[in-house]
Amino acid sequence: MHKIIIVGGGLAGSLTAIYLAQRGHHVQVVEKRSDPLQENPKADPINSRAIGVSMTVRGIKAVLGAGISKEDLDQCGEPVVGMAFCVRGQYKVRELTPLEGLFPLSLNRNAFQRLLNKYAALHKVKYHFEHKCLDVDLDRKTVLIQGPDGALQHLHGDLIIGADGAHSAVRRIMQSNMRRFEFKQTFFRHGYKTVVLPNAEALGFRKDLLYFFGMDSRGLFAGRAATIPDGSISFAICLPYTGTPSLATQNPEAMAEFFDRYFSMLPPASRKELMEQYIALPSNDLINVRSSTFHYKGNVVLIGDAAHATAPFLGQGMNMALEDVHVFVKLLEKHGNALDLALSDFTRLRKVEADAMQDMAIANYETLSNPNLIFFLQTRYTRYMHKKFPRVYPPDMAEKLYFTSVPYDELQQIQKKQNVWYKLGRVN
Ligand SMILES: Cc1cc2nc3c(=O)[nH]c(=O)nc-3n(C[C@H](O)[C@H](O)[C@H](O)COP(=O)(O)OP(=O)(O)OC[C@H]3O[C@@H](n4cnc5c(N)ncnc54)[C@H](O)[C@@H]3O)c2cc1C
Repeated sequence: MHKIIIVGGGLAGSLTAIYLAQRGHHVQVVEKRSDPLQENPKADPINSRAIGVSMTVRGIKAVLGAGISKEDLDQCGEPVVGMAFCVRGQYKVRELTPLEGLFPLSLNRNAFQRLLNKYAALHKVKYHFEHKCLDVDLDRKTVLIQGPDGALQHLHGDLIIGADGAHSAVRRIMQSNMRRFEFKQTFFRHGYKTVVLPNAEALGFRKDLLYFFGMDSRGLFAGRAATIPDGSISFAICLPYTGTPSLATQNPEAMAEFFDRYFSMLPPASRKELMEQYIALPSNDLINVRSSTFHYKGNVVLIGDAAHATAPFLGQGMNMALEDVHVFVKLLEKHGNALDLALSDFTRLRKVEADAMQDMAIANYETLSNPNLIFFLQTRYTRYMHKKFPRVYPPDMAEKLYFTSVPYDELQQIQKKQNVWYKLGRVN
């Protein structure tokens, strides 16, 4: 059994800890935030950034695979049956059919994080909360950490797992110390702010739908919203960095005009509430990170956002992170805990998937933030054609994405085939 140090005790890091501790490995987690199971954990800017996240079937399977009960998971979210696209104040609803007997969940991210920490505690995982990873020695497999009092400590393991998110310190150290490590970080023309309204049902929102906004805004903005079990709904509003309206806009009239125009289905008091929250909040960036490899020898591996942070417009960053964990643990088992074999297989298998998922997320972002109303015709055409000619016409990609764990690169092939058919049918 191995001594494993996980840097980052977020969603991917904590799920990894549970899986590995169950298999008898000695696991320590270094997490810069405070313990979410404490009575009053310190306010956390990361958690307040994305309050609602959708967990699709691949994410659910990865969580259940760690022995977390479905009942406990269901407490953290609401089942989702489809999507609603808001166009000129009206919703076009698309309900999807469950294909593997599981519905996606609209999760309260904080509740899910606490659930993971609860299970990790049951498996006696040792967390170093409020400790920051400052440095990693890739060859000696040591991690230098600093506690809240400034004291430094070295941890030594057989394996170091970088699960420290989009701005990963572990990845940065791999970049500077590995030969031919290619890395690309891109930002979008939009960033985002997350605003929240209580009592979503009273405002006409169904708790079993994911909401998308901005398709009628000629590329100005894209928005996504989901309800969580406390009955509130959180909106991620993506706008450009400059101009009016933008993330920099502080003029209440300009932002009121924006919310009146694109959120006209809400009562005036709720639009005012959104506008006030929006102006008061800082903005966050949407980032896409690609690395040429996810591992260093049998010593260090990156998982989740540390390996492949992605803009959220396919709602797959967390799902892919959780699936990474499941795949990694299966590879360790397959190779009888031989780290060098498991890690090189991990990069080989997951790099293809991550690239495909990121390409699809970027394409979806363009669709959602552009005036492509033909999108609705395309999806209707796809479902009709697949029903009529199931052998030759590919199925609906979104349905497979949300309701199955079909590999991302297969889904990308489906999308490519559909694009050819749209052209043949002169629909596009
Ligand atoms: C607006 C928005 C909406 C989203 N919606 C969805 C969605 O609906 N579905 C979906 O699947 N995904 C969604 N995502 C993506 C999802 O949030 C991420 O993919 C997911 O959080 C990745 O998990 P992670 O554990 O890899 O990284 P993180 O959740 O970022 O966790 C990293 C952890 O590492 C810790 N850490 C960082 N640096 C250090 C250090 N030096 N030392 C110690 N600890 C450190 C951090 O405190 C954090 O706890 C969304 C993202 C955004 C921004």
